Amino acid sequence: MLELRNVNVAYGSTQVLWDINLHVETGEIVSIVGGNGAGKTTIARALSGLLPVMSGNIFLNGEDIANQASHVILGKGLVHIPEGRQLFTDMTIYENLELGAFNKQARANMNKSLKQVYEWFPKLEERSSQLAGTLSGGEQQMVAIARGYMSQPKLILFDEPSLGLAPNIVDHILDVAKSLTKQGVTVILVEQDVRKALRISDRGYVLENGRVRLEGKAKELLENEDVKKAYLGF
Ligand code: ATP
Repeated sequence: MLELRNVNVAYGSTQVLWDINLHVETGEIVSIVGGNGAGKTTIARALSGLLPVMSGNIFLNGEDIANQASHVILGKGLVHIPEGRQLFTDMTIYENLELGAFNKQARANMNKSLKQVYEWFPKLEERSSQLAGTLSGGEQQMVAIARGYMSQPKLILFDEPSLGLAPNIVDHILDVAKSLTKQGVTVILVEQDVRKALRISDRGYVLENGRVRLEGKAKELLENEDVKKAYLGF
């Protein structure tokens, strides 16, 4: 479904991603993990058209989307749930969700999608008229995910969904990520919490200094001695 081939990305004259090769198959959960500054968010932003790709290809269902505008990529079914959430803070939860269902098809199915997101996150229904800016960090993350789902994406890219959240909320959000795949949505999880991310994933990529250092089945990465030492506190 998605393939990055020799992707290089720079901020100005500073290159931060080097020859990234990775692929994601339909229905998988694939984690991109690594420490601070490894380049995870940069991959997420390049994938969704928020950062230019210096060279290389990003194929989405066979079509090269590298350097296409972010709204075009969104229209092709790739939704990015950004780090920091970026909600419309002076709008209500409901209005944020309504904005997520921006295309014709999503608008036509809005009630069905709403029912699903309220099932995942009952709090959002209880508080649907509350301004998004007044919500806690965890609740804002729920709105961001729900808003992304409202567009009926084929692929959801989560950028650091666990950032700053309590462990039980992180677990709930990761459960939702997992149940997305049961609906045929493919998931990419960009995460610093290596253990939690790999536990729910099919496969993973470990990034270091802007390069793919390791890749493989999530279970195998969790057992890998280098991963254990560097990221799992062994
Ligand atoms: P974190 O988990 O800390 O967000 P990350 O793996 O997501 O880390 P990136 O944010 O992708 O890492 O950063 C990769 C590298 O790019 C880092 O060296 C960082 O300093 C650099 N970088 C990130 N944003 C910019 C920017 N706007 N301008 C210049 N350099 C940047």
